[in-house]
This record gives sequence, C-alpha cells and structure tokens, in this order.
Amino acid sequence: MIPASFDYARPQSVDEATQILSGDEDAKVIAGGQSLIPLLRLRLAAPSVLVDLGGINELRGVHDDGDALVIGAMTTHASVLRDPLVARHAPLLAQATATVADRQVRHLGTLGGSLAHADPAGDLPAVAVALDATLEIAGPGGRRSVAAADFFVDYLTSAVEPGDVLVAVRVPKRDGWSSHYEKFNRMAQAWALVGVAASVRRDNGTIAEARVVLTNMGSTPLRAEAVEAALTGASADAPTVAAAAAHAAEGAQPTGDPSASAEYRSHLARVLTERAILSTLDPGRSSHAA
Ligand SMILES: Cc1cc2nc3c(=O)[nH]c(=O)nc-3n(C[C@H](O)[C@H](O)[C@H](O)COP(=O)(O)OP(=O)(O)OC[C@H]3O[C@@H](n4cnc5c(N)ncnc54)[C@H](O)[C@@H]3O)c2cc1C
Repeated sequence: MIPASFDYARPQSVDEATQILSGDEDAKVIAGGQSLIPLLRLRLAAPSVLVDLGGINELRGVHDDGDALVIGAMTTHASVLRDPLVARHAPLLAQATATVADRQVRHLGTLGGSLAHADPAGDLPAVAVALDATLEIAGPGGRRSVAAADFFVDYLTSAVEPGDVLVAVRVPKRDGWSSHYEKFNRMAQAWALVGVAASVRRDNGTIAEARVVLTNMGSTPLRAEAVEAALTGASADAPTVAAAAAHAAEGAQPTGDPSASAEYRSHLARVLTERAILSTLDPGRSSHAA
C-alpha cells in the first residue's frame, strides 16, 4: 500500500527537531525507517510530518566517556558492529547486534530506533537492560536520563514521549564481566522467538554478580531475577547453572502465536538461559560467545 501523505522535515540539530515535534502532536521521528516505513505502508501510522534525524551529526557515533561509552541514537547497527570501543567494552551489544536481521537492515536501522520502537521481540532492549544502560532523551522541557530498566513501559511503548528525541545510549564499560546473547529463531536473520542476554562477573570460581534478561517473554524485556538470585554467590559450574536456569520463566507472561505457544516460549527461556550462562563461563563453548 502507499502511505498516507505527510510533510517532511530534516532538522540540523536536536533543538530544531524537538521544536518541530513539540509544535505538532502528529509529527513523528524517522531514523532508519526499518520499522516505521512498513507501518506507514500498512497505514498503521499516518503522521502529519516525518522528522528525519539523518542530518543531525550529534546523534551518530560511539564516544569514550571514561567509565562508559556514549552511543548516538542514530548510530546504525552496522556501525555498532564494526566499532572497536563496543567490541572491547560492550561485546554483548556487538554480539546481539550481529543477530539483528540481515546486512541491508543493519546498514539502515539504528540502535536508537530499535530501543525507541520497544518491540518485545527486538534483541537490543534486553541487552540495554542487561548492560545497565541509560537512555538520554531530549524533549520540550530539556534533557533527561532514564535507566533502561525504566525505559521500556509496555508493548511498543517506551519512555520516549511525543515531542521527544532519543539522543544517546550510555553503556557502562563492563570490564571484568563476560557475556553472551543466545537467540532462538526459526530462520536465520529472523526475529527472536525468545532471546537471553546474560552477563556474569566471576570471583575465584564463584559467580559474584549475574544479570540475565529475557527477550520476548512479555511486553517488555524481563529480568530473570530468580535466576540471578540463584547464581549470585554460587559456584560457577554446570549443575549450578542448570538448577538456576530452571527458574528462567518465573514471573514471565509470554504470549502464544502461530510460531510458538506460551509453554514453548517458557521451555525455550529455560534452555536458552542455561546455554547463555554456560557460554559466559566458557566462551569457547559457543561460536557466538562474547
Ligand atoms: C526484515 C527485518 C528484520 C528485522 N529483524 C530484526 C531482528 O531480528 N531483531 C531486531 O532487534 N530487530 C529487527 N528488525 C528491526 C530493526 O532492528 C530496526 O532497526 C529497528 O526496529 C528500528 O530502527 P530504525 O532506526 O529503522 O527506526 P525507525 O523505523 O525509523 O523508527 C522506529 C520507531 O522508533 C521511533 N524512533 C526512532 N528513532 C528515534 C529517536 N532517536 N528518538 C525518538 N524516536 C525514535 C520512530 O518514531 C518509530 O516510532 C528487523 C527489521 C526488518 C525490516
């Protein structure tokens, strides 16, 4: 279908973008267009004006900011993938990004777009929560920071309000942690039926801290808190991991659809959680280890 007609604006600064957006409640940001354009073509969205962030240099690139990386919201998946700072300090992000769609989508789609879109099947929201990222948002009232744990509000709903622009993603450096993203899909390059972002810090043969976050086990990324609690302080061995992973689906509310029933998603959560944590403990175990 052909989208409904809309005006087009290409601001050169974040301030200019928020001014346009706050002056028209039906205006909408477009980043890489990989999620929005299909919605426009199906006429599930009909904005009055598309505000293209592609001309705002401030929104692109990865910068070292001491104890964290600051990644501009318009940084494409492909740029994230080839960035040496991300590879060194946030390998979980690089590894999960490599599973997103195909090369064409990764060359246009952006990190900020993936997070702002807040799709429960998207891979990067769970990673943002697992890495304890902070989202920097500019709006009519100025700039604010929102923890990833509070950013994902509901199905396709984030803390980005009308009039706002997601500016950057601040990712703490996770030196000393090992991490892994385990994704199960029916076809290569497809969306996750379930995914697990795991990050573990070890100390003398025990697991000192663990962060385990599930993709597509509810309307927002879900921390597997029972798994984290079972791992913390436990010895880093396979039986302990298997026992902890058995709790993975606790508190989850997965939906059923033609690709997977809710019960099957719960089963996947347990299996993938075990695999993800074992891969953090033995990176050589999987070709995808980060
Ligand atoms: C065939 C295909 C397969 C895919 N497979 C996967 C997959 O396996 N895993 C996965 O995670 N994703 C997948 N995606 C989605 C892809 O990752 C997109 O990059 C992502 O969903 C949206 O990014 P975008 O930059 O294209 O955003 P857009 O489509 O431009 O925007 C998406 C939404 O976010 C809003 N938005 C975007 N940027 C900002 C901003 N800076 N501030 C405020 N609001 C903003 C827009 O207004 C819009 O509502 C797939 C997409 C396609 C087309």
